[in-house]
Amino acid sequence: MDKELKDIKSLTLDQLMLELAIQGEKPFRAKQMYEWMHVKLAEDFDNMTNLSKAFRDRCRERYIYTSLKLLELQTSKLDGTKKFLFELADGNVVESVLMKYKHGNSVCVSSQVGCRMGCKFCASTLNGLERSLLPSEMLEQVYAITRLTGEKVSNVVVMGIGEPLDNYDNLLCFIRLLTDENGLNISQRNVTVSTCGLVPEMRRLAGEKLQITLALSLHAATDEKRRELMPIADRYSIKELMDVCQYYFEQTGRRITFEYSLVGGVNDAKQDAQELIRLAKPINCHINLIPVNPIKERAFIQSDGERIQSFKNKLEKNGINVTIRREMGRDIDGACGQLRRRHIGEPRVKA
Ligand code: SAH
Repeated sequence: MDKELKDIKSLTLDQLMLELAIQGEKPFRAKQMYEWMHVKLAEDFDNMTNLSKAFRDRCRERYIYTSLKLLELQTSKLDGTKKFLFELADGNVVESVLMKYKHGNSVCVSSQVGCRMGCKFCASTLNGLERSLLPSEMLEQVYAITRLTGEKVSNVVVMGIGEPLDNYDNLLCFIRLLTDENGLNISQRNVTVSTCGLVPEMRRLAGEKLQITLALSLHAATDEKRRELMPIADRYSIKELMDVCQYYFEQTGRRITFEYSLVGGVNDAKQDAQELIRLAKPINCHINLIPVNPIKERAFIQSDGERIQSFKNKLEKNGINVTIRREMGRDIDGACGQLRRRHIGEPRVKA
């Protein structure tokens, strides 16, 4: 990507006004252009018909206008979930998912190309991190899906490929643009960011005082067990994580979500449930149990239905808010990162 050119779709309205003012354009021009980009979801400068051709041509010379190329679309016959494989300007690919729920349409967005967090059960991290996504590249996943399907998107979860808090500044800019009242105006309460648990960034996020939901990928209730599944557990202890979750709640008033992927024979025993209860009880939280989606590179298996149910019952009996995540699109390349992996030809797993 040409470093000289500014990425126009990653600019806030104020930044765009300033940018265009330098070119001698009036603030209302910036407003018009912002609306074309973030409300009317124009695919190109050419679509911006109320702006002069000369101005559009000048913009084309000065700015990058991020767009994604659809490479593949899979639709689940079971629940209508759609999975999109998009190509970025530099040839990298990411995936995004559209899920339809009774309460509205939700898009799952990728935040990086690959991931460097190394969680053992996750397909996105098998070949490490290629690069982080720009705000415009995250936004465009939502915009392209809206354009392609004609569906209105009401919820966004940053739970696709990548660790969002490992791309902090771009993530924040993305959230501000996505929830801007001059843009798509998605409610902050309908945005969820999921993290493997980067404590300093979680603390920083709490300070932004956003109304988004923070989801922590916990997956184990003891440091020892968590370390088996997630290398990040070597860096931050569960105690530190619980402290920062408490802090997030105090700062924002938003209840934390704990994600807990149930892996057969690893973290689904009665004792695991007991330890999870002990952790979760003092915190205003909601637990999302995810039956692990097996990937062929690893030997993890899903807990059986009965075990999942009794794990859930145990938590409920102890007054914990808990849901089992509905598995959406089971019949299409299920676990996150698998569609991209198939596309890039499943290169050798890094040692
Ligand atoms: N990096 C972020 C977003 C990852 S994906 C994070 O770690 O939270 C969103 C959720 O799916 C995370 O909780 C992640 O741990 C979980 N996940 C990844 N691969 C999975 C799999 N194969 N089965 C079940 N859950 C998985």
